[in-house]
Amino acid sequence: MIEILQGDITRLDVDAIVNAANPSLLGGGGVDGAIHRAAGPQLREYNKTLGGCPPGEARLSPGFNLPARHVISTVGPVWHGGDQGEARILENAYRNSLELALANDIRTIAFPAISTGAYGYPREQAARIALRVMREYEPRFDRIIAVLHSKEDYDLYKRILEEIQGE
Ligand code: ADP
Repeated sequence: MIEILQGDITRLDVDAIVNAANPSLLGGGGVDGAIHRAAGPQLREYNKTLGGCPPGEARLSPGFNLPARHVISTVGPVWHGGDQGEARILENAYRNSLELALANDIRTIAFPAISTGAYGYPREQAARIALRVMREYEPRFDRIIAVLHSKEDYDLYKRILEEIQGE
């Protein structure tokens, strides 16, 4: 089942929350900063052992002080206008996060709106990619949750999910 929630992803008690990380995996701003603050400094220490992550791939860490059991860090594309393979990289970020979850018996997973903050991906295009991949994987999970920070993004996701479900 796909659920759309408005709020702070760090508060969710799920098997895994996904982080919109940067390739160092050592923390940054936005949702990445919030996740590292809530998980505690052990997340950064652990991630030093992972050796980074290229855009479109995903890596697994423990949740440390988070209510979530795991953090799946993925790196979305930086938006450069749309002709640099951004859509495929964003799709891969969602897909590889979900594949990594399946390989680790994760049945409940929450995603932020990857790449739509500092990385500048247009929100509606990103939402369509996110929700299409989530729908494809929906039967293999108990819960796939999209967590949106703003009411505008929450309304956008609700509208696009309805559109996709009507197809
Ligand atoms: P990126 O660098 O991938 O663009 P950002 O963290 O800048 O990542 O933004 C991604 C999205 O995460 C934005 O829509 C932002 O509003 C949202 N966001 C920021 N903090 C949180 C949070 N605590 N929980 C959920 N979403 C958040």
